[in-house]
Amino acid sequence: MAVRTRRRPAVSQVLPWRPAALVLLGLLLILSVILRLTEHRPPKLDENLHPLQELADLAHDAVSLPEGWHREKDPEIPVSEGLLVLVNNQHPYDAETTTELLSVYENKWGYYEVKDWVLSVRPELMDALNRWLKAGYDKNMLMNVNVVAGYRSYETQKELYDNAVATHGADYAAQYISLPGASEHHTGYATDLGIVNFAEGTSEDFTGEGKQAWLAEHAWEYGLILRYPEGKQQLTGIAYESWHYRYVGLPHAQIITERGICLEEYIELLREYPFDGPHLCGNCRGKNYKIYYCPADELILPNSGSYAISGNNVDGYIVTLTGYDAYPNAG
Ligand SMILES: [Zn+2]
Repeated sequence: MAVRTRRRPAVSQVLPWRPAALVLLGLLLILSVILRLTEHRPPKLDENLHPLQELADLAHDAVSLPEGWHREKDPEIPVSEGLLVLVNNQHPYDAETTTELLSVYENKWGYYEVKDWVLSVRPELMDALNRWLKAGYDKNMLMNVNVVAGYRSYETQKELYDNAVATHGADYAAQYISLPGASEHHTGYATDLGIVNFAEGTSEDFTGEGKQAWLAEHAWEYGLILRYPEGKQQLTGIAYESWHYRYVGLPHAQIITERGICLEEYIELLREYPFDGPHLCGNCRGKNYKIYYCPADELILPNSGSYAISGNNVDGYIVTLTGYDAYPNAG
């Protein structure tokens, strides 16, 4: 009896399937390679950002600027710093002013007085005080101007406010004293002036009248503005103060003074001059200037040339170009 062995299937039975399978596999491989090569890969996304937000940012950055300009990704100062910071009860000052302060006593020229030897201000204000008060002396022999306030810390302002409430009541304090954190004396760019009465040994308020009028009228030439003018209390939150001056520099002091506006109005006005619109142009003491506003996340600067940046302490930056004929044409 023959033993039945399992026979392998005849070669002729499998051969027709094998090449077909190999061809199919090959086709699949080629197809997958083609698909991979032509696959649309999305840009690499930052895990910290919402993907849609980052795609929006990429699209935004792709909007081209005129030649010679760039978006500044890493501004040298925060929005809360600079000569044009707006500080009031709605916009407190939270930057640290611990550096760059100069003692008025040690740096003043000999044409005016200072209340004490610890009083200090920013270098820009120090320089303006020296030149402004010397000019006042040269003009009117006015030599009893007394610098009675400069930089103030949060703690000092709190003490001042609490004392005013205790002595004169809450209504008086609200009218004349800024809340702690909301005084522009925190910035080091503000000063209060008095007039020394040498005979009596007292100091009176600087009124800007009589012999003092020349100083009040010419303050802008030194980059200074009367910060709390008459009739602006609704906007500034502080009643008229003839003695409180703020350094903002040129050409800003000139524009503010000529237009008879307060700093609150000026900061608002500058929003009407964005980078991609007409800029605020003019001439200050023989120098052309252009000023424009940028939102905090969209600071645009020229690639070269002379410009100044200041935060507005609200929502953005103010860029001031001087000698702008050398700048690429924009706005
Ligand atoms: Zn003051």
